[in-house]
Amino acid sequence: KLFNEVQELKGNIRVYCRVRPFLPGQDKKSTTIDYMGENGELLITNPFKQGKDGHRMFKFNKVFNPFASQAEVFSDIQPLVRSVLDGFNVCIFAYGQTGSGKTYTMSGPSTSKQDWGVNFRALNDLFDISLSRRNAFSYEVGVQMVEIYNEQVRDLLSNDIAQRRLGIWSTSQPNGLVVPDASLHPVKSTSDVLDLMEIGQANRAVGSTALNERSSRSHSILTVHVRGLDLKNGSTSRGCLHLIDLAGSERVEKSEVTGDRLKEAQYINKSLSALGDVIFALAQKSAHVPYRNSKLTQVLQSSLGGQAKTLMFVQINPDVESYSETISTLKFAERVS
Ligand code: ADP
Ligand code: MG
Repeated sequence: KLFNEVQELKGNIRVYCRVRPFLPGQDKKSTTIDYMGENGELLITNPFKQGKDGHRMFKFNKVFNPFASQAEVFSDIQPLVRSVLDGFNVCIFAYGQTGSGKTYTMSGPSTSKQDWGVNFRALNDLFDISLSRRNAFSYEVGVQMVEIYNEQVRDLLSNDIAQRRLGIWSTSQPNGLVVPDASLHPVKSTSDVLDLMEIGQANRAVGSTALNERSSRSHSILTVHVRGLDLKNGSTSRGCLHLIDLAGSERVEKSEVTGDRLKEAQYINKSLSALGDVIFALAQKSAHVPYRNSKLTQVLQSSLGGQAKTLMFVQINPDVESYSETISTLKFAERVS
């Protein structure tokens, strides 16, 4: 029922913008954000232009201002998360330049409860609901965590280093491409999930690359699989929730980078534009959806389109120095919304 309400109100693809606050020590900076409306309006000022031409208005399903709490943000998407229990597939993305708050939104700045981002709150909520329905339904919940770096998919929860690199296989499921051998871990409580996330984060940092750098250049996908059994009539349902912290969308000057860094940038660019193209095609109800152009869109294929629901958090830095990245982020978002 909740799901139907959401669907009627908003359709299959929605875009929420979240503006990050200035960080401690940044309080003397000036901002590009002119106005944030109740109905998803966002007015941006061009610091280099005066007058009427210096402003640009964007419109999204919702804009969260810098003071929006983690709890407020989650309460807005709760019905979407719960639809997974009814057998729907949901993708929630965070898109934006490095430092704009993607990880803050998806995971939170710490693992203490008030800081929890969408991922812990979503799992916690799914456990709460399944407990409250336990006389009528039995749910099994399992999680997978993969990273896509330079167009290679890695299992972040595998104990066996040799098995972390994954291929993508077509399956016989309709419309289904999956990562079949990413390890699936049954979870019964939020603390199980917190433990797994810690392992996943540790496996993310490899070689000499610092975790922060690595995480800004790779996509991480936490997938929650839910299988429900209706105890009265024996029918079953399957749904999954993908929570995706995307690589930083900042463009790099080709002249400034070489070698590995350039290759990384090209891979990120390619996969983010492939994602944009897929969501754009879905929004246009186009007959051809170009899933095959990146690993990211291949991994998520069965959860993008069809009955599936997509939510994109577009993360914005408030400062004037970020103006051109902010505009490019907002243009990406505008295209898919
Ligand atoms: P990203 O993952 O996009 O690179 P982060 O989530 O790491 O960005 O955020 C960058 C910094 O800004 C972090 O110190 C984070 O705690 C802080 N931050 C981001 N969003 C918020 C917010 N809504 N409120 C308070 N601090 C935030
Ligand atoms: Mg991050």
